[in-house]
Amino acid sequence: MYTRDKTRPVKIGKVTIGAGNPVLVQSMTQTKTADVRSTVGQILDLEKIDCEIIRVAVPDMESAKAIGKIKKQINIPLVADIHFQYLLALEVIKQGIDKVRINPGNIGSIDNVKAVVKVCKEKNVPIRIGVNMGSLEKDLWAKYGKFGIARVMVESATRHIKILEDLKFENIVVSLKGSDNVVTRQAYLSFAKRFDYPLHVGITESGPSIAGAVKSAVGIGSILAEGIGDTIRVSVSDSPQSQVKIAWNILKSLKLRQKGVEIISCPTCGRTEIDLISLAKKVEKILSKINAPIQVAVMGCVVNGPGEASFADIGICGGKKQGAIFKKGKLLRTIPEKEIFPVFIEEVKKVLVEKGYTESAEKIKIPQTG
Ligand code: SF4
Repeated sequence: MYTRDKTRPVKIGKVTIGAGNPVLVQSMTQTKTADVRSTVGQILDLEKIDCEIIRVAVPDMESAKAIGKIKKQINIPLVADIHFQYLLALEVIKQGIDKVRINPGNIGSIDNVKAVVKVCKEKNVPIRIGVNMGSLEKDLWAKYGKFGIARVMVESATRHIKILEDLKFENIVVSLKGSDNVVTRQAYLSFAKRFDYPLHVGITESGPSIAGAVKSAVGIGSILAEGIGDTIRVSVSDSPQSQVKIAWNILKSLKLRQKGVEIISCPTCGRTEIDLISLAKKVEKILSKINAPIQVAVMGCVVNGPGEASFADIGICGGKKQGAIFKKGKLLRTIPEKEIFPVFIEEVKKVLVEKGYTESAEKIKIPQTG
């Protein structure tokens, strides 16, 4: 039985997942892995926005042999994604990979599995069994299909797990990804009743931009909200940077992780007296690189703003040709509309200093307008 606090701990390079450790944000590169320079560049860019584990596709030996060079130049754990070819697994482990995503039932004879398990044991490299709704075994469909896709997914994972457990290998992470939120959630919930291995959670092929972000947030969020999941990956058709940002926002919205400033802003309505949408965007942009866990509110009116954002550390709400600054719901002062942005940001800086984030406050430079 899975509970996030009590899953088995699994070490992936220098991080440990499971056993109540924080849920980590994972992504996957879009470069050709054999192109070491581009791959390292993309990973270093992702590190800057707090991607915590990175996976690369390893479709051939050239990619497998590139792993060692990539590893030397990055700082986060590196995972190899391998399908069918056990020799690639052996090579990436030799090259120092931190985790291998490979399904033991798909790599040919048991001798192939034994060879991979042997080196994984020697190097303490975990294996992620990655079940995907789109590629389930035909015989499992025939036997369990009448119980629904989720059941077939769990049976598939069970089969792969058994192969490894029979070889006394339990350094396992599992994922049960699908492109359907309801089915995927069912699969994770029913798997969690049977096993206590850490779980990597994701919704596959979730779509482009807004549609993909919403689908991922609902799908991944609904699984995390059940207390399930140790790493997450957002699979939207967008840059890995977008994927990481969405993943962090999912974790922040469930209060599972804290990172940076949380902006609270209203959707605006007929009571709005200022250009709130552009003000909120400007505030978000200027505070985006600040890694201090404060809440900043940008609200459209004084009637509801301070009350609805009363928990915010500092906030601004619009009035007729002016703005009012409030702290924890209490109005402090009003300022003319033209001065709202710079004055408000100065107030945010004061809050950062009060809370001990002086370095963060010093980083904020208000652009001079002509
Ligand atoms: S805070 Fe005021 S302006 Fe914003 S949505 Fe609520 S009522 Fe409308």
